[in-house]
Amino acid sequence: MERPLKRTELSAQGELCVAGDSVLARPKTNRMPCIVCGEYSHVSYHRSDLLKCVNCGFVFAPLDETVDLRLIYTDAYFNGDEYMDYKNDSSVIERNFLGRIREIRKMFGEHAIARALEIGCAYGFFARQFTATFKRARYYGIDIAKEAVTYAKMNLQQNCENTDYLILPPPQTPYSDVFLWDVIEHLPNPSGVIEKISREIALGGRIHITTGDIDSLVARFQKARWRLIHPPTHLSYFSAKTLTMFLRKHGFRVKSISYPPVWRSVRQIFYSLFILNKKDNITLGKLHLWIPKHLCVPINTFDIMYMVAERTCDMDGE
Ligand SMILES: [Zn+2]
Repeated sequence: MERPLKRTELSAQGELCVAGDSVLARPKTNRMPCIVCGEYSHVSYHRSDLLKCVNCGFVFAPLDETVDLRLIYTDAYFNGDEYMDYKNDSSVIERNFLGRIREIRKMFGEHAIARALEIGCAYGFFARQFTATFKRARYYGIDIAKEAVTYAKMNLQQNCENTDYLILPPPQTPYSDVFLWDVIEHLPNPSGVIEKISREIALGGRIHITTGDIDSLVARFQKARWRLIHPPTHLSYFSAKTLTMFLRKHGFRVKSISYPPVWRSVRQIFYSLFILNKKDNITLGKLHLWIPKHLCVPINTFDIMYMVAERTCDMDGE
C-alpha cells in the first residue's frame, strides 16, 4: 500500500516537502490543474508516466498530444492489441450489458429512459440489448472507432455514428440518460465531455459510468501491475471519492455506487494472462484456441465500479 502523504508544503521551486520528515517526493508542477480539485501539484504514482494529485488523490497520465487516439481505436485494438477478439466475445459482453440493463430497469422502472446517448458504443452490443429491452426509448450511440461503428450500423442495424462527442451538435430534446461504459478512463478531455453532458442532459437525468477504482484493494496491492494501468489508452484513474467529486463539480449528485461481478470469457482471461504483452509462444497461442469460445465465468475483483449520478440544478451537485 502506498505510504500516505503527510502535511505538504510546496516550495517556490515546486518541490514537495513533508513536514517533520525527509522529502518523500518531488511533485511535477504541471501547467494543467487537477481536473477534480484544481490542484497544480502532483507526485509520481508507482511509475514515471503516472501522476497523482497531492490534494485529492486523482491519478492520471499526462496527455501526449502527439498521439492520435483515432489511430489507436482501430480494428486492431479490438482484435489483438487490447482484446483478443471483441466481436467473437459478443455473447459474454452482451451478458454483462444485460445484467446492467436489468439493474437499471429495477432501479428506475421500465419507462424511465426516454432518450439515451451512449458515448463509446463500439460494435453496438449494448445498443442491441438496450433497444430490445427499452422499446420506447430513443437510442443514439457514438464512437471514434470507425470500423466498430460501421459494424454496429451495418450488421446490428443500430443508430450509431462515428463521431467525437465534443463536436456533436446539442440534441433538440435533452438526454434522459447518458452511458459511458468503461469509457471515461480513455477520454483525453473528461472535463469537456462531462461538462457538455451536464448542459445537454435533462434535470433529473442520469449519467451511468463504469470504470476501474484506483483505491480498490486489488489496485492498491498490485500498484503499477494493476491490469487497468496502461496509458495511453487509459488516461484517468478515478476512485469512488474522486469520481464523486468530479461529477459534483459538474452538477451531478451520485445516486448509487456498486461493484458488480463481470462475466469473462475464459479464452480472454487466458489471453490477457499469458499472451498479451508477452513474448510470442506458439504453444500457448495454439492452446488458447482449444478453450471453448462461449465458456465464461463470473468474476468479481471489486475494482470495477458502476456509478449512477443524477443531474441536479446546482453545479456542485448539492
Ligand atoms: Zn486533485
